Amino acid sequence: MHSRRAMRVVIDAGHGGEQFAGRSSPVGVRGPLGTAEKDVALALARRVGAHLGPDAALTRSDDRNLSLRERAAAAGGSQVLVSIHADGRTERGAQIWVHSRARENCHDLAHAIQRELGTFGGAVGATRSGELALLTPELLRAETAACLVEVDALGDREGERRLRDPRHLDALAAAIARGVRRYAGQRSTARALAAVELNAGDAFDRNSPPYLEWVQRSLNDLSGVNLAVDGESGPATRGAVRQFQQAHQLNPSGSVDESTEAALIAAGADPAPTMPAITAAGIDFNRDLRPSLSCWRTAQWRGLPISFAIRYYSNNAEKNLTLPEAQALSESGIACVAIWEAAGGSVAYFSRANGEAHGQAAVVQAIGVDQPSGEPIYFAIDNVDPMSAADRRQIEEYFEGVRTGMARALATPEGVAAGVSYPIGVYGSWNVLDWCRDQGIASWFWQSCSTGTSGGKSRYLWPGAHLRQVRCEYQLCGLSVDVNEAYQEYGGWLRPVAPWTDFPSTSPPRDVGSAGVA
Ligand SMILES: [Zn+2]
Repeated sequence: MHSRRAMRVVIDAGHGGEQFAGRSSPVGVRGPLGTAEKDVALALARRVGAHLGPDAALTRSDDRNLSLRERAAAAGGSQVLVSIHADGRTERGAQIWVHSRARENCHDLAHAIQRELGTFGGAVGATRSGELALLTPELLRAETAACLVEVDALGDREGERRLRDPRHLDALAAAIARGVRRYAGQRSTARALAAVELNAGDAFDRNSPPYLEWVQRSLNDLSGVNLAVDGESGPATRGAVRQFQQAHQLNPSGSVDESTEAALIAAGADPAPTMPAITAAGIDFNRDLRPSLSCWRTAQWRGLPISFAIRYYSNNAEKNLTLPEAQALSESGIACVAIWEAAGGSVAYFSRANGEAHGQAAVVQAIGVDQPSGEPIYFAIDNVDPMSAADRRQIEEYFEGVRTGMARALATPEGVAAGVSYPIGVYGSWNVLDWCRDQGIASWFWQSCSTGTSGGKSRYLWPGAHLRQVRCEYQLCGLSVDVNEAYQEYGGWLRPVAPWTDFPSTSPPRDVGSAGVA
């Protein structure tokens, strides 16, 4: 047992290069448009490695082949080996393989990854087993749990389109990384790996509203008290916590600590809420990104590739997304996300008349850049926090105007010809998002950077956020941009691109491809 040591994970990108290496074929399968399995495998392995952090290593970080023996050797001393492939099937979904003589730990790993890929939406059948040379037990140490994931089918155009879509790769990578963590969580060596959880710094800590709501709900159920479930730590909540602590022989501090949390759960409370995993990283910026595009192709945030750019529709042509820019971003594997923001600055700006004008102009611009139907347009609600009752009414009117204006644009000959519709998203503080959700105003939510708003709640992730601005005016690629994280589908879209020969590349955490060769 290495209970104090990090769990070491090796992610193997299948195939590579132009030549056979032993029995490892260079290209793997090819999609009907020419996309090579080796490129899909590498793009995905990098993302999984980024999610897992410094304890993860890749067998290869560039376009070269390694023999199966070299790949297995690279996994020596690791507790996890996941080999990533795509195959020539046409039915959507992943397949997970272990060796037919695999040890129990391999089955556990496969099962953990299967569960995560299943929740992400792809069909995942039962673990398959076969005589896979790379997974031969004699090539690997007993402590190394090994499996091979055929992440999706590259055999038809649909599958190929998915596997060239950075949003799909982001989601697959996040799911595989969660599966590895799930496996790690079942092992005694899990401790160190848990520390590389990307969200560790932003977890729902014990002062955050979602956590306090859980405490209040739990105490209402368990102690027969009747606390308001408002996520705020008032005297009533502290009193009820103190009472619970006294009844369970705990230090009666009135605030929930680790032992109180454990006692609540032991007494029958649901598990405490946890942060969702980051699925993708991106930026927002108010100017054309093409001049810095070569940098964005390789830029990273917390080791994840920058895989989306939030760009503007507005009354200012200089800051607006254009069709050529959307095309260039898509060709670089960067998805576009649309936000409408005209001027802002005061509550008076959110009039019904402005809403109509904005909704109409936003749809015209969205059609102009060929934004796919069904993807949202976020509308910025700035500088209205705290919200008075009058502010709330005004924002409600503004969005009534937005809906009217959008409908008007869709009823024009151009709108009818485009045959599109765009759901409404809202960008704003914790309170703004809360209120817009409760009023049914929006179905997509982007939490703004302003941590000082909403009575301090904005320091925490708003539950239900599709996107969150996590750093404002951050220097990246020579620009001052805002950095965003996505926690689920976030409304990013791509323009159709010509077949590509290479994936946008990012530096992996570490490369043991040659160092690991015996
Ligand atoms: Zn393969």
